[in-house]
Amino acid sequence: MALILALGFGRVTSNRIVIVGGGFGGLHLVRALERRLRPGEADVTLLDRNNYHLFTPLLYQVATGELPPHAVAYPLRQTIVREAKYRFVQTNVERIDLEAHAVDTADGRIPYDRLVLAAGSVTNDYGIPGVREHALGMKYLAEAQEVRRRILTSFERADVLPDPEGRRRLLTFIVIGAGPVGVELSASMRDLFDHSLRGSYANIDIDRDPSITLLDAGERVLATMDERLGRVAARRLEELRVDVRLRTPVSEVVDGAVRTKTGPELRASTIVWAGGVRDLARSAAGERTSGRGRHLPRGRAGRSPRHRRRRVRGMAGQTAGAAGAGRRSRGASARGESRPPHPRRADRTIRAQGQGRPRRARTHIGRSPAASLSVPDDAQGCRLCRLSCLDRLARELPDPAPRGAKPRKPADRVAPLLFHDTYGVEHSLA
Ligand SMILES: Cc1cc2nc3c(=O)[nH]c(=O)nc-3n(C[C@H](O)[C@H](O)[C@H](O)COP(=O)(O)OP(=O)(O)OC[C@H]3O[C@@H](n4cnc5c(N)ncnc54)[C@H](O)[C@@H]3O)c2cc1C
Repeated sequence: MALILALGFGRVTSNRIVIVGGGFGGLHLVRALERRLRPGEADVTLLDRNNYHLFTPLLYQVATGELPPHAVAYPLRQTIVREAKYRFVQTNVERIDLEAHAVDTADGRIPYDRLVLAAGSVTNDYGIPGVREHALGMKYLAEAQEVRRRILTSFERADVLPDPEGRRRLLTFIVIGAGPVGVELSASMRDLFDHSLRGSYANIDIDRDPSITLLDAGERVLATMDERLGRVAARRLEELRVDVRLRTPVSEVVDGAVRTKTGPELRASTIVWAGGVRDLARSAAGERTSGRGRHLPRGRAGRSPRHRRRRVRGMAGQTAGAAGAGRRSRGASARGESRPPHPRRADRTIRAQGQGRPRRARTHIGRSPAASLSVPDDAQGCRLCRLSCLDRLARELPDPAPRGAKPRKPADRVAPLLFHDTYGVEHSLA
């Protein structure tokens, strides 16, 4: 509590906006508020358990060593404090007290007048036994680093094994989930083996020893994307000698093996779960807000629903809710659908509320879950918004050009993030 008071949260202002989550959604909203709010109009605070924004689209490259971890971790203070002049607190949000209008964090209580939940999603194991214990995730930076460590350690250990069978066993990798993460990861692993690691291990036959199997319960790879893309990806995976097994639902993961409903147990030294995500704040709302979360729209197996719009009823006052982020966005982008920039609605809601014009209680769920926001609506309910495609997100990333210089193209803005030297990202890793 002392920390929070020291930061000035004790003082009373009438427009305290607290944003939970510095992912794509939270960052986008900060940018939008920065453009729309007049100086001093609101007291904006961003909370995140990490002091960096994670650029998830390239996480698989960290897992295969193509990029160093700091290349995908962007320091939040750069945007929030230095550029927007808002406040940033690195802390874990533990609970939201809707009645008291306060966020309880690991470091104390933070009051708000308006709360935006953009806390993203968590890995969805669909309740399959053993996934958490025996498979590696691919959602967080530490998980991608662990995948990389496991791959490289397997090669090191295999190289000193005299028994060829044992070597092959150690170099057997299974990726579960043939969505974008699983497909990209499998392909990138083969690239790593075929190029970066070829010639480095005297006893490993790089063409025959390592094997990659990609499992999915569905009918095709990249099931959420356009069918043509799926076909191209399947062809490419075949060229890369990735053994794709579709219609293979996983029933259990045990130490060193995957059990499926359709065939024998598959043994592997490294098992990666890329099976998807489920909404974090949606679950949290269900657990922590006296059952109010049940009013939030639900999708199949905890995924975000795909409805274009949904209204949330019975969430009067300060209401917390959110949508996590699935990966359908890429499919949607691939289909070239146009989507409205929902976070702008979030910031308009905040502006309208600030001007005493409450908006109608409504939840918006865009078709693209590239990122999500929810703005508790003073009038009645909770507003959920999603960002559209990555290109739009790229626009929201800070422009590395000096202030006053000609704005750069979105791609140029993303580039320094990938090549990390502009921002001194090293400092961002906790
Ligand atoms: C491996 C991977 C690859 C992806 N590739 C793509 C892609 O190529 N294109 C695409 O469009 N989408 C992609 N996605 C999906 C995309 O990352 C998400 O849709 C997007 O990150 C969602 O944004 P968000 O702001 O809702 O949540 P997030 O980006 O997850 O941000 C949530 C933030 O909230 C913070 N947080 C969570 N809980 C708490 C708490 N209790 N206290 C404090 N802080 C908290 C987290 O630290 C995080 O910074 C990918 C996802 C993954 C996992």
